[in-house]
Amino acid sequence: MDKIGNLIYAGKAKDVYEYEDNNKVVVKFRDDISAGDGEKKDSLVKKGYYNSLISSKLFEVLEESSIKTQYLKLLKPQYILSKKLKMIPLEVISRNLAAGSLLRNFPFQEKQKLEPPIIQMDYKNDKYHDPMLNDDIIIALKISTKEELNEIRAITKKINHLLSKFLDEKEIILVDFKLEFGKDQDGNIVLGDEISPDTCRYWDKETLDTLDKDIFRKGQGNVMNAYEKVFNRVVDEDDLKKWNID
Ligand code: UDP
Repeated sequence: MDKIGNLIYAGKAKDVYEYEDNNKVVVKFRDDISAGDGEKKDSLVKKGYYNSLISSKLFEVLEESSIKTQYLKLLKPQYILSKKLKMIPLEVISRNLAAGSLLRNFPFQEKQKLEPPIIQMDYKNDKYHDPMLNDDIIIALKISTKEELNEIRAITKKINHLLSKFLDEKEIILVDFKLEFGKDQDGNIVLGDEISPDTCRYWDKETLDTLDKDIFRKGQGNVMNAYEKVFNRVVDEDDLKKWNID
């Protein structure tokens, strides 16, 4: 842990630190939680612990199926050693059921099945409040090329398939989720950021109860109870042993 260097970047819920190897960074998952463009904020004990472990597990699941991710290893709870990427300012949202902003912006029915799943790209930019983009705008802003967008869509589709299947076996419905991609030193498109209850909608398969940040957004109940449930279903004893966590 003495190999962690200076803070490079502080986001709303994660910090990024330099590492002794200049091609790598350490991502720290903090306990902070926010919603609505950062207007609603809190700090929840163990959120960083749960999210770092859930995210590690899901990145490992994807890596096992040859998805390129920035994940290298969990150093200890809250701290993930990652490849350094040049991030692409897109929020790539994949939706299996209609929820959230899709219901606010369009005449979908709540819980409506989206077949085929919708992939939506938002501009990751606080100043402009993350507006939805289309391919022409993305290309004109030189965020990505047409070819890169096709690749991002193909990877996102595959990730949706893999995660939906994995979570279904844990009695969780993957309603929607947000991904962020970056480029590694060789220019490859690599999955970055996190996959956690902060960035996905998870519903209990049997009860359809919310098990994600929507509880915080709507102020409806105990957020950490839900995150703990996801943690208990997704991370098993063997994972904890492998990561040297008691
Ligand atoms: N999402 C996210 N960060 C954002 C916006 C959305 O992680 O800045 C995730 C969110 O948790 C959900 C999915 O992307 O799983 C779709 O979010 P939506 O567009 O419905 O927005 P919201 O209702 O959260 O405002």
